[in-house]
Amino acid sequence: MTTLAQIAAELAGYDPQALRADMVNTFLAKLVQPVTDSENIGIFQALGRVLAVDLVSPISVPAHDNSAMDGYALAGAQLSLGKPLTLRLVGTALAGKAWQGRVAAGECVKIMTGAIMPAGLDTVVPQELVSVAGDQITLAAGLLRCGDNRRRLGEDLQQGQPALLKGELLTPAALGLVASLGIQSVPVLRRLKVAYFSTGDEILSLGEAPREGAVYDSNRYTVFGLLTRLGCEVIDMGVVPDQPDLLEAAFVQAALQADAIITSGGVSVGEADYTKAMMKKLGDVTFWRIAMRPGRPMAVGQIFRDKLASSPYAASADSYHKSSIATGSAMLFGLPGNPVAVMVTFLAFVRPALLRLMGCSASAPPLLRARSSEAIRKKPGRTEYQRGIVSAAPDGSLQVQTTGQQGSGVLSSMVRANGLIVLHHAQGNVAVGDEVDVMMLSSVV
Ligand code: AMP
Ligand code: MG
Repeated sequence: MTTLAQIAAELAGYDPQALRADMVNTFLAKLVQPVTDSENIGIFQALGRVLAVDLVSPISVPAHDNSAMDGYALAGAQLSLGKPLTLRLVGTALAGKAWQGRVAAGECVKIMTGAIMPAGLDTVVPQELVSVAGDQITLAAGLLRCGDNRRRLGEDLQQGQPALLKGELLTPAALGLVASLGIQSVPVLRRLKVAYFSTGDEILSLGEAPREGAVYDSNRYTVFGLLTRLGCEVIDMGVVPDQPDLLEAAFVQAALQADAIITSGGVSVGEADYTKAMMKKLGDVTFWRIAMRPGRPMAVGQIFRDKLASSPYAASADSYHKSSIATGSAMLFGLPGNPVAVMVTFLAFVRPALLRLMGCSASAPPLLRARSSEAIRKKPGRTEYQRGIVSAAPDGSLQVQTTGQQGSGVLSSMVRANGLIVLHHAQGNVAVGDEVDVMMLSSVV
């Protein structure tokens, strides 16, 4: 068990009141204890899951040298520069059926895509490149080199080598690869359970009558979407009003049922509410002011389950969820309240941490470079995530413009954006035409 104080002590320059965005990820990486429980499941259930072991290939794929084209198989040694080649057709090799005959010099075999290369033949001429006259084919000079259009045994996967590594996310391509090995089920790490709720007396649940000064809860729906896309099992705990007993019940039940808890609201400085006090009471929690925009305040920590057993709220936690949690603590992410800040802090920090918790080896999406088609004001000394619209410039290169208004409550601009322009800590103003980093939303949501 690592405490927050231990991690803080290891990080040079750690300042919870002016924390660099990159240090947030370093900190969280040290806090996360990846899940280890695994289960064996069929391929169709495995999409989006994380592989629990290296998957060693029991066979070579392809299992034989075979043809990549419909055409004629020949011995490539007969191809000589500057001379056409005429060969006599002596048979046909079909896919799924080896052609057993022998081929002498000056002969060839008609072959279909995927058919095993007949013994002694190493090159395939596509049928559209030859002229056929009776049982003779003629190939013009200079069209083919020895070895062309032949797929080699094991060129995709070699028998005995790992085809996929532990920690890889099973994408559609990975599912196909598993199937290509003849494997029907794979060991994957268990799914994460993540509980979430919104806090604040001004937050209305859907269906509630509007009151003056109140706003409908949007964060829960955004968080639901982000978690679902990540493949987590979600536990929706609703809107929790600013009352100590209700907050305590929510935190205790969430911690007993989930690997991680995500809340929104109630973590900013000067918040006159009970959310922060309850986090502090129940867990090992720290409150950060991150040098970033949007999303400055954030709470992180862990709630230890064995300390909750005596809570009056423990009994009502769902026993199904409780029973399948093996780890001793639930991670806590207290996100700010503003809807855009919720998404940005989730994508920048929570998502990489949850991927790590899932046992996934890749946690950061690649950033693209795009030319800014406008000037952007940016102060050095904080990381900014601006909503951007990336498009192809007339010359085919990538360009990006902001969605304009960057207020952290303006969720409509998040809908319009297809990427987040990441302006790094030390970076200053951006001039028209400068290249900037962009995190494409399609890679993370
Ligand atoms: P807070 O972080 O609690 O100070 O909230 C900052 C802003 O976000 C306030 O304007 C809140 O009304 C708004 N807000 C907080 N929670 C939510 C929510 N669940 N859905 C929509 N807006 C919210
Ligand atoms: Mg509030």
